[in-house]
Amino acid sequence: MSSAGVIGTSLWKAVNPPPPPALPLDGRAATDVLIIGAGVAGLSLGLHLSAKHVDTVILESESGANAATSASAGIVAPQLVRTTPNAVLKALGTEIGARLVRMIAESGRYAFDLIDQLGIQCSATQSGFLNPVTGLRGAARHAQLVEEWRPFRDDLRLIDDTEVRALSGCRGYSAAILDSSGGGLDPVAYSQGLAKAILKRHVALHHNSRVLSLTRSGNRWLAQTPSGEVTARRVVLCANGGNVALHPALAQTVLPLLVCEVATRPLPASMREKILPQGHVLTDSATNVFSIRFDRAGRLITACPGRNKIDYAQIDDLINARLATLIPDYRRTPLEYIWQGTAWLNTTLLPRVLRVEDGLWAVQACNGRGIAVNTIIGRELGRWLAEPNEGAPLVPIESPRRVTGFILARYLPELMMGGAAIAKRTLERIGWRT
Ligand SMILES: Cc1cc2nc3c(=O)[nH]c(=O)nc-3n(C[C@H](O)[C@H](O)[C@H](O)COP(=O)(O)OP(=O)(O)OC[C@H]3O[C@@H](n4cnc5c(N)ncnc54)[C@H](O)[C@@H]3O)c2cc1C
Repeated sequence: MSSAGVIGTSLWKAVNPPPPPALPLDGRAATDVLIIGAGVAGLSLGLHLSAKHVDTVILESESGANAATSASAGIVAPQLVRTTPNAVLKALGTEIGARLVRMIAESGRYAFDLIDQLGIQCSATQSGFLNPVTGLRGAARHAQLVEEWRPFRDDLRLIDDTEVRALSGCRGYSAAILDSSGGGLDPVAYSQGLAKAILKRHVALHHNSRVLSLTRSGNRWLAQTPSGEVTARRVVLCANGGNVALHPALAQTVLPLLVCEVATRPLPASMREKILPQGHVLTDSATNVFSIRFDRAGRLITACPGRNKIDYAQIDDLINARLATLIPDYRRTPLEYIWQGTAWLNTTLLPRVLRVEDGLWAVQACNGRGIAVNTIIGRELGRWLAEPNEGAPLVPIESPRRVTGFILARYLPELMMGGAAIAKRTLERIGWRT
């Protein structure tokens, strides 16, 4: 590590051992279900399919979960993103909407239970997720939100400004939703634990096996990697942003949002006693989102909009200034890790699975909140693919839809996070919730 900290490598990759070895695909294989991508979504799906004894192969281009899973902050936030249960019921209809809302409500509990069941050591703490707001109108909207969730869950509580201040150490918030089913985990250790459980069940998980092409061959699919090929009756694309290169119908269906995550050096006990003293994790409701959590070593993890080139001094100044503004007891601390990742957003910000063609689906549920959500989608999709007559999955299955005005729209999430009001208005016009 240089005196300026580790730049470009996620904290989680740096502090974890290498992933469990999984040999590249070599030669030909045939299977019932092929999963492309071994982040949280692909691994959870593989795990749940193996529990139902469905013959499964997983192909991952890197040597372990990469992309968004390893870049994530590891905040388990079992909440809808910038929308409400009533709005979801209105948009999707009461049946499909209610299923989705139920799934989100259950997702945090399910992820922590699964971690427990499998004995995964990933610093998982179900300490509670705080979602604070500012102003009287924000507080009133949050009170309404808790009411809308009530038919689906009883683990949310509206807390007032004094309690937010006590639980977060942050100033300026008028209220917060405290979701006791949320918390934090180490996403790389989590994905490695899922991979180990899968390998134990003898699922064929192949690392360093990028799928170069996916084509129809009779009534089967053919996936080619640099050193082999797999034919499958059914394929699920779990490559997140990588999905778009695997089928033309997926082009221009998601918008990229580059996010820069940082971890400070471990904070002294005097600060830890004041900031998130009971171990909560926090993401606020601002357009330029503010989020904080601690890792096991006491590093404070937060984020800012991504950038083309990481300049340590610039990001260190920006992050330290923001932390000092929002947290009265914070004292300037050098950043130890800075890394970036791309969150892929759809315009409704609702998790979904796309039915691309016969026997081909794509999980499209990142939206910056996939750790718990993609875990439970793996359960739902796994059950449905194994037992299609046993009822629809909780996650909606939709057709791919291109984002209107994609050529410009692709830059808007980043501009908006940077505070550009015109980007916010334009996104709202094309149906994106801000
Ligand atoms: C910076 C950042 C912070 C985030 N913070 C949080 C958070 O705190 N909480 C939360 O819930 N969510 C968070 N998210 C979102 C969350 O990380 C994602 O929703 C989730 O990890 C997505 O999982 P996934 O398996 O769908 O995709 P990914 O984790 O992106 O995995 C896709 C996998 O597919 C592989 N792949 C790609 N192309 C191919 C190919 N052609 N062949 C084979 N394999 C391929 C990739 O190597 C990768 O391993 C964050 C995202 C980012 C970017």
